[in-house]
Amino acid sequence: MTKRRPGDALAPPLVPASAFFAPGDPADAPFAYGRLGNPTWSALEAEYEATTGGAPTVAFASGMAAVAAVVDALVARGGRAVAPSDAYYAVRALFEARGVETRLVSSTDPESFARAASGAALVWVETPTNPGLDVVDVAATAKACREAGALLVVDNTLATAAGQDAFVLGADVVVVSATKATSGHSDAVIGLAAARDPALATRLRAARTLGGAIPGVLEAWLCLRGLKTLDLRLGRSSESALAIARALGDDGWLVRYPGLPEHPQHALAARQMKHFGPVLTFDLASQARAETFCSHLERIAEATSFGGVETTLERRARWASDAVSPGLIRMSVGLEPPEAILAELRAALREVQT
Ligand code: PLP
Repeated sequence: MTKRRPGDALAPPLVPASAFFAPGDPADAPFAYGRLGNPTWSALEAEYEATTGGAPTVAFASGMAAVAAVVDALVARGGRAVAPSDAYYAVRALFEARGVETRLVSSTDPESFARAASGAALVWVETPTNPGLDVVDVAATAKACREAGALLVVDNTLATAAGQDAFVLGADVVVVSATKATSGHSDAVIGLAAARDPALATRLRAARTLGGAIPGVLEAWLCLRGLKTLDLRLGRSSESALAIARALGDDGWLVRYPGLPEHPQHALAARQMKHFGPVLTFDLASQARAETFCSHLERIAEATSFGGVETTLERRARWASDAVSPGLIRMSVGLEPPEAILAELRAALREVQT
Protein backbone atom coordinates (compact mmCIF):
# COMPACT_ATOMS: atom_id res chain seq x y z
CA MET A 1 0.00 0.00 0.00
CA THR A 2 1.40 3.42 -0.90
CA LYS A 3 1.82 5.82 2.03
CA ARG A 4 -1.01 8.35 2.39
CA ARG A 5 -0.23 12.05 1.94
CA PRO A 6 -2.15 14.82 3.73
CA GLY A 7 -5.29 15.62 1.76
CA ASP A 8 -5.63 12.17 0.17
CA ALA A 9 -9.19 10.89 0.05
CA LEU A 10 -9.76 7.97 2.41
CA ALA A 11 -11.86 6.23 -0.23
CA PRO A 12 -9.76 4.85 -3.11
CA PRO A 13 -10.05 6.79 -6.37
CA LEU A 14 -12.35 5.56 -9.12
CA VAL A 15 -10.26 5.91 -12.28
CA PRO A 16 -12.11 5.56 -15.59
CA ALA A 17 -9.33 5.50 -18.18
CA SER A 18 -8.59 3.71 -21.43
CA ALA A 19 -5.08 5.18 -21.77
CA PHE A 20 -2.47 6.45 -19.30
CA PHE A 21 0.51 8.76 -19.73
CA ALA A 22 3.30 6.29 -20.57
CA PRO A 23 6.30 7.94 -22.25
CA GLY A 24 9.19 5.86 -23.61
CA ASP A 25 9.14 2.16 -22.76
CA PRO A 26 5.52 1.40 -21.68
CA ALA A 27 6.84 -1.36 -19.40
CA ASP A 28 8.21 1.43 -17.15
CA ALA A 29 4.75 2.90 -16.54
CA PRO A 30 2.59 1.23 -13.85
CA PHE A 31 -0.41 1.64 -16.16
CA ALA A 32 -0.38 2.10 -19.93
CA TYR A 33 -3.59 0.83 -21.51
CA GLY A 34 -7.03 0.16 -19.99
CA ARG A 35 -7.23 -3.55 -20.85
CA LEU A 36 -3.87 -4.26 -19.20
CA GLY A 37 -4.40 -2.64 -15.82
CA ASN A 38 -6.21 0.06 -13.87
CA PRO A 39 -5.52 1.62 -10.44
CA THR A 40 -9.05 0.86 -9.19
CA TRP A 41 -8.66 -2.83 -10.11
CA SER A 42 -5.28 -2.85 -8.36
CA ALA A 43 -6.84 -1.38 -5.20
CA LEU A 44 -9.56 -4.07 -5.26
CA GLU A 45 -7.05 -6.85 -5.92
CA ALA A 46 -4.85 -5.67 -3.03
CA GLU A 47 -7.86 -5.55 -0.67
CA TYR A 48 -8.88 -9.11 -1.62
CA GLU A 49 -5.30 -10.32 -1.37
CA ALA A 50 -5.28 -9.11 2.24
CA THR A 51 -8.27 -11.38 3.00
CA THR A 52 -6.42 -14.42 1.62
CA GLY A 53 -3.15 -14.02 3.49
CA GLY A 54 -1.47 -12.52 0.42
CA ALA A 55 -2.49 -14.68 -2.57
CA PRO A 56 -2.06 -12.57 -5.73
CA THR A 57 -5.52 -11.76 -7.06
CA VAL A 58 -6.92 -10.92 -10.50
CA ALA A 59 -10.30 -9.20 -10.96
CA PHE A 60 -12.58 -10.15 -13.87
CA ALA A 61 -15.74 -8.96 -15.60
CA SER A 62 -17.87 -11.59 -13.81
CA GLY A 63 -17.58 -14.79 -11.83
CA MET A 64 -17.87 -16.76 -15.06
CA ALA A 65 -15.08 -14.69 -16.65
CA ALA A 66 -12.86 -15.69 -13.70
CA VAL A 67 -13.90 -19.34 -14.09
CA ALA A 68 -13.17 -19.22 -17.85
CA ALA A 69 -9.73 -17.70 -17.26
CA VAL A 70 -8.88 -20.42 -14.73
CA VAL A 71 -9.90 -23.15 -17.17
CA ASP A 72 -8.11 -21.50 -20.12
CA ALA A 73 -4.94 -20.85 -18.14
CA LEU A 74 -4.71 -24.10 -16.20
CA VAL A 75 -6.17 -26.89 -18.34
CA ALA A 76 -4.35 -27.72 -21.58
CA ARG A 77 -6.43 -28.39 -24.69
CA GLY A 78 -8.00 -31.84 -24.28
CA GLY A 79 -6.94 -31.90 -20.61
CA ARG A 80 -8.88 -33.53 -17.80
CA ALA A 81 -10.69 -32.10 -14.80
CA VAL A 82 -12.82 -33.27 -11.91
CA ALA A 83 -15.89 -31.30 -10.82
CA PRO A 84 -18.86 -31.85 -8.53
CA SER A 85 -21.96 -33.10 -10.33
CA ASP A 86 -23.93 -30.37 -8.51
CA ALA A 87 -21.47 -27.53 -9.19
CA TYR A 88 -23.05 -24.27 -10.38
CA TYR A 89 -24.58 -25.26 -13.72
CA ALA A 90 -22.72 -22.64 -15.82
CA VAL A 91 -19.38 -23.89 -14.49
CA ARG A 92 -20.22 -27.43 -15.64
CA ALA A 93 -21.42 -26.07 -19.00
CA LEU A 94 -18.21 -24.09 -19.45
CA PHE A 95 -16.02 -27.14 -18.85
CA GLU A 96 -18.02 -28.90 -21.55
CA ALA A 97 -17.89 -25.94 -23.95
CA ARG A 98 -14.09 -25.74 -23.55
CA GLY A 99 -13.75 -29.44 -24.45
CA VAL A 100 -12.36 -30.34 -21.02
CA GLU A 101 -12.80 -34.05 -20.33
CA THR A 102 -14.62 -33.67 -17.03
CA ARG A 103 -15.30 -36.40 -14.51
CA LEU A 104 -18.36 -35.37 -12.49
CA VAL A 105 -18.30 -36.69 -8.93
CA SER A 106 -20.63 -36.56 -5.96
CA SER A 107 -20.10 -33.77 -3.43
CA THR A 108 -21.64 -35.93 -0.74
CA ASP A 109 -19.12 -38.76 -1.13
CA PRO A 110 -15.98 -37.57 0.72
CA GLU A 111 -13.71 -39.97 -1.19
CA SER A 112 -15.01 -39.21 -4.69
CA PHE A 113 -12.69 -36.29 -5.48
CA ALA A 114 -9.63 -38.18 -4.24
CA ARG A 115 -10.51 -41.24 -6.35
CA ALA A 116 -10.96 -39.15 -9.52
CA ALA A 117 -7.97 -36.80 -9.08
CA SER A 118 -5.33 -39.01 -10.68
CA GLY A 119 -4.44 -37.76 -14.18
CA ALA A 120 -6.53 -34.58 -13.87
CA ALA A 121 -5.00 -31.12 -14.44
CA LEU A 122 -7.35 -29.66 -11.89
CA VAL A 123 -9.96 -30.63 -9.36
CA TRP A 124 -12.84 -28.17 -8.98
CA VAL A 125 -14.59 -27.97 -5.64
CA GLU A 126 -17.56 -25.77 -4.80
CA THR A 127 -18.46 -25.72 -1.13
CA PRO A 128 -21.12 -25.26 -0.01
CA THR A 129 -22.66 -26.01 -3.41
CA ASN A 130 -25.27 -23.78 -5.01
CA PRO A 131 -28.12 -24.64 -4.58
CA GLY A 132 -27.63 -28.11 -3.02
CA LEU A 133 -25.70 -26.76 0.01
CA ASP A 134 -23.50 -29.86 0.09
CA VAL A 135 -20.23 -29.39 1.94
CA VAL A 136 -16.96 -30.81 0.57
CA ASP A 137 -13.90 -31.55 2.74
CA VAL A 138 -11.37 -29.10 1.25
CA ALA A 139 -8.38 -30.20 3.36
CA ALA A 140 -8.85 -33.90 2.50
CA THR A 141 -9.34 -33.06 -1.19
CA ALA A 142 -6.22 -30.86 -1.14
CA LYS A 143 -4.18 -33.76 0.24
CA ALA A 144 -5.49 -36.08 -2.49
CA CYS A 145 -4.71 -33.43 -5.15
CA ARG A 146 -1.14 -33.02 -3.90
CA GLU A 147 -0.64 -36.79 -4.09
CA ALA A 148 -2.16 -36.94 -7.60
CA GLY A 149 -0.30 -33.84 -8.89
CA ALA A 150 -3.56 -32.00 -9.66
CA LEU A 151 -4.31 -28.36 -8.83
CA LEU A 152 -7.18 -27.75 -6.42
CA VAL A 153 -9.51 -24.90 -7.36
CA VAL A 154 -12.14 -23.85 -4.82
CA ASP A 155 -15.19 -21.85 -5.87
CA ASN A 156 -15.68 -19.85 -2.67
CA THR A 157 -18.66 -17.84 -3.93
CA LEU A 158 -21.17 -18.89 -1.29
CA ALA A 159 -18.93 -18.88 1.79
CA THR A 160 -16.64 -16.01 0.65
CA ALA A 161 -13.20 -15.26 2.06
CA ALA A 162 -14.82 -14.19 5.33
CA GLY A 163 -16.66 -17.48 5.77
CA GLN A 164 -14.02 -19.98 4.71
CA ASP A 165 -10.27 -19.63 4.31
CA ALA A 166 -9.83 -21.90 1.29
CA PHE A 167 -6.06 -21.27 1.05
CA VAL A 168 -5.46 -22.31 4.66
CA LEU A 169 -7.50 -25.45 3.88
CA GLY A 170 -5.15 -26.18 0.95
CA ALA A 171 -6.58 -24.64 -2.23
CA ASP A 172 -4.15 -23.70 -5.01
CA VAL A 173 -6.60 -21.31 -6.67
CA VAL A 174 -9.72 -19.63 -5.28
CA VAL A 175 -12.47 -18.25 -7.51
CA VAL A 176 -15.44 -16.15 -6.42
CA SER A 177 -18.42 -14.69 -8.14
CA ALA A 178 -18.00 -11.40 -6.27
CA THR A 179 -21.40 -10.50 -7.72
CA LYS A 180 -22.74 -12.25 -4.60
CA ALA A 181 -21.85 -11.59 -0.95
CA THR A 182 -18.29 -10.44 -1.65
CA SER A 183 -19.64 -7.20 -3.20
CA GLY A 184 -22.89 -7.70 -1.34
CA HIS A 185 -25.20 -4.90 -2.50
CA SER A 186 -26.82 -6.39 -5.63
CA ASP A 187 -25.30 -3.66 -7.77
CA ALA A 188 -22.23 -5.16 -9.47
CA VAL A 189 -21.41 -8.18 -11.64
CA ILE A 190 -17.73 -9.01 -11.05
CA GLY A 191 -15.40 -11.95 -10.38
CA LEU A 192 -12.09 -12.60 -8.63
CA ALA A 193 -9.50 -15.34 -8.92
CA ALA A 194 -6.53 -15.68 -6.54
CA ALA A 195 -3.62 -18.11 -6.72
CA ARG A 196 -1.22 -19.38 -4.05
CA ASP A 197 1.60 -19.51 -6.63
CA PRO A 198 2.35 -16.07 -8.13
CA ALA A 199 3.28 -17.78 -11.43
CA LEU A 200 -0.30 -19.10 -11.69
CA ALA A 201 -1.65 -15.62 -10.97
CA THR A 202 0.51 -14.29 -13.81
CA ARG A 203 -1.12 -16.84 -16.13
CA LEU A 204 -4.57 -15.74 -14.96
CA ARG A 205 -3.66 -12.11 -15.58
CA ALA A 206 -2.43 -13.01 -19.08
CA ALA A 207 -5.72 -14.87 -19.73
CA ARG A 208 -7.63 -11.74 -18.71
CA THR A 209 -5.56 -9.50 -20.98
CA LEU A 210 -5.91 -11.87 -23.91
CA GLY A 211 -9.58 -12.74 -23.39
CA GLY A 212 -10.45 -9.14 -22.56
CA ALA A 213 -12.91 -10.04 -19.76
CA ILE A 214 -11.88 -7.02 -17.68
CA PRO A 215 -13.96 -5.65 -14.82
CA GLY A 216 -15.76 -2.34 -15.19
CA VAL A 217 -14.07 0.31 -13.11
CA LEU A 218 -17.29 1.21 -11.28
CA GLU A 219 -17.94 -2.46 -10.49
CA ALA A 220 -14.38 -2.81 -9.18
CA TRP A 221 -14.91 0.21 -6.95
CA LEU A 222 -18.27 -1.06 -5.67
CA CYS A 223 -16.75 -4.47 -4.95
CA LEU A 224 -13.87 -2.84 -3.09
CA ARG A 225 -16.32 -0.90 -0.94
CA GLY A 226 -18.33 -4.07 -0.29
CA LEU A 227 -15.21 -6.00 0.73
CA LYS A 228 -14.57 -3.57 3.56
CA THR A 229 -17.76 -4.73 5.32
CA LEU A 230 -17.78 -8.35 4.15
CA ASP A 231 -16.89 -9.89 7.49
CA LEU A 232 -19.55 -7.86 9.33
CA ARG A 233 -22.22 -8.55 6.73
CA LEU A 234 -21.49 -12.24 6.49
CA GLY A 235 -21.43 -12.63 10.27
CA ARG A 236 -24.79 -10.94 10.62
CA SER A 237 -26.50 -12.69 7.69
CA SER A 238 -25.15 -16.08 8.79
CA GLU A 239 -26.43 -15.59 12.34
CA SER A 240 -29.84 -14.60 11.02
CA ALA A 241 -29.86 -17.48 8.52
CA LEU A 242 -29.18 -19.95 11.34
CA ALA A 243 -31.94 -18.48 13.52
CA ILE A 244 -34.41 -18.57 10.62
CA ALA A 245 -33.38 -22.10 9.58
CA ARG A 246 -33.90 -23.30 13.18
CA ALA A 247 -37.28 -21.60 13.48
CA LEU A 248 -38.59 -22.94 10.15
CA GLY A 249 -37.33 -26.40 11.09
CA ASP A 250 -39.13 -26.14 14.45
CA ASP A 251 -42.28 -25.19 12.53
CA GLY A 252 -41.96 -28.51 10.69
CA TRP A 253 -40.59 -27.35 7.30
CA LEU A 254 -37.91 -29.32 5.51
CA VAL A 255 -34.93 -26.96 5.85
CA ARG A 256 -31.34 -27.40 4.68
CA TYR A 257 -28.56 -25.20 6.08
CA PRO A 258 -24.94 -26.19 6.83
CA GLY A 259 -25.21 -24.55 10.27
CA LEU A 260 -28.00 -26.88 11.40
CA PRO A 261 -26.85 -29.98 13.32
CA GLU A 262 -29.26 -32.01 11.13
CA HIS A 263 -27.28 -31.12 7.96
CA PRO A 264 -25.45 -34.35 6.97
CA GLN A 265 -22.08 -32.58 6.76
CA HIS A 266 -22.61 -30.17 9.67
CA ALA A 267 -19.55 -31.40 11.61
CA LEU A 268 -17.34 -30.81 8.56
CA ALA A 269 -18.93 -27.40 7.90
CA ALA A 270 -18.33 -26.42 11.54
CA ARG A 271 -14.67 -27.46 11.17
CA GLN A 272 -13.89 -25.66 7.93
CA MET A 273 -16.22 -22.65 7.91
CA LYS A 274 -16.03 -19.49 10.01
CA HIS A 275 -19.58 -18.46 9.06
CA PHE A 276 -22.18 -20.82 7.55
CA GLY A 277 -23.28 -18.25 4.97
CA PRO A 278 -26.50 -16.46 4.05
CA VAL A 279 -28.13 -19.21 1.95
CA LEU A 280 -30.63 -21.80 3.14
CA THR A 281 -33.23 -23.86 1.32
CA PHE A 282 -36.61 -25.28 2.25
CA ASP A 283 -38.85 -27.54 0.26
CA LEU A 284 -42.54 -26.78 -0.13
CA ALA A 285 -43.04 -30.06 -2.04
CA SER A 286 -44.81 -28.72 -5.14
CA GLN A 287 -44.52 -25.95 -7.71
CA ALA A 288 -48.04 -24.70 -6.91
CA ARG A 289 -47.36 -24.34 -3.17
CA ALA A 290 -44.00 -22.67 -3.79
CA GLU A 291 -45.56 -20.19 -6.23
CA THR A 292 -48.42 -19.39 -3.84
CA PHE A 293 -45.90 -18.83 -1.05
CA CYS A 294 -43.79 -16.48 -3.22
CA SER A 295 -46.88 -14.51 -4.30
CA HIS A 296 -47.71 -13.71 -0.65
CA LEU A 297 -44.37 -12.05 0.13
CA GLU A 298 -44.26 -8.29 0.48
CA ARG A 299 -40.83 -7.00 1.44
CA ILE A 300 -38.81 -10.10 0.69
CA ALA A 301 -38.02 -9.89 -3.03
CA GLU A 302 -38.46 -12.83 -5.37
CA ALA A 303 -35.08 -12.58 -7.10
CA THR A 304 -32.22 -14.80 -8.16
CA SER A 305 -28.60 -14.46 -6.98
CA PHE A 306 -27.70 -14.31 -3.28
CA GLY A 307 -25.48 -12.60 -0.73
CA GLY A 308 -27.04 -9.12 -0.93
CA VAL A 309 -27.91 -6.84 1.98
CA GLU A 310 -31.62 -7.49 1.34
CA THR A 311 -33.34 -10.84 1.84
CA THR A 312 -34.30 -12.54 -1.43
CA LEU A 313 -35.64 -15.92 -2.43
CA GLU A 314 -36.86 -17.86 -5.42
CA ARG A 315 -38.37 -21.16 -6.45
CA ARG A 316 -35.15 -22.53 -7.79
CA ALA A 317 -36.68 -24.97 -10.31
CA ARG A 318 -38.05 -21.99 -12.31
CA TRP A 319 -34.57 -22.11 -13.88
CA ALA A 320 -34.43 -25.26 -15.96
CA SER A 321 -30.68 -25.54 -15.32
CA ASP A 322 -30.86 -27.05 -11.82
CA ALA A 323 -32.21 -30.54 -11.20
CA VAL A 324 -33.98 -29.64 -7.96
CA SER A 325 -37.35 -30.44 -6.46
CA PRO A 326 -40.16 -28.30 -8.00
CA GLY A 327 -41.04 -26.83 -4.59
CA LEU A 328 -37.50 -25.97 -3.46
CA ILE A 329 -37.08 -22.40 -2.23
CA ARG A 330 -33.54 -21.01 -2.16
CA MET A 331 -33.33 -18.10 0.20
CA SER A 332 -30.56 -15.59 0.83
CA VAL A 333 -30.83 -13.90 4.21
CA GLY A 334 -29.95 -10.22 4.30
CA LEU A 335 -29.29 -7.72 7.05
CA GLU A 336 -32.87 -6.92 8.09
CA PRO A 337 -33.89 -7.82 11.66
CA PRO A 338 -34.29 -11.62 11.60
CA GLU A 339 -37.60 -11.43 13.51
CA ALA A 340 -39.07 -9.31 10.69
CA ILE A 341 -37.87 -11.76 8.02
CA LEU A 342 -39.27 -14.70 9.97
CA ALA A 343 -42.61 -13.00 10.56
CA GLU A 344 -43.02 -12.35 6.84
CA LEU A 345 -42.00 -15.91 5.95
CA ARG A 346 -44.43 -17.39 8.48
CA ALA A 347 -47.28 -15.23 7.19
CA ALA A 348 -46.68 -16.41 3.59
CA LEU A 349 -46.17 -20.02 4.73
CA ARG A 350 -49.56 -19.96 6.49
CA GLU A 351 -51.08 -19.59 3.00
CA VAL A 352 -49.68 -22.97 1.95
CA GLN A 353 -50.06 -24.88 5.21
CA THR A 354 -52.24 -27.93 4.66
N1 PLP B 1 -19.95 -19.79 -9.14
C1 PLP B 1 -21.06 -19.90 -8.37
C2 PLP B 1 -21.07 -20.85 -7.22
C3 PLP B 1 -22.19 -19.12 -8.65
O1 PLP B 1 -23.29 -19.24 -7.88
C4 PLP B 1 -22.15 -18.22 -9.75
C5 PLP B 1 -23.33 -17.41 -10.09
O2 PLP B 1 -24.42 -17.60 -9.57
C6 PLP B 1 -20.99 -18.16 -10.53
C7 PLP B 1 -19.90 -18.95 -10.19
C8 PLP B 1 -20.91 -17.24 -11.73
O3 PLP B 1 -20.80 -15.91 -11.33
P1 PLP B 1 -21.31 -14.65 -12.19
O4 PLP B 1 -22.80 -14.75 -12.25
O5 PLP B 1 -20.80 -13.48 -11.41
O6 PLP B 1 -20.69 -14.76 -13.53
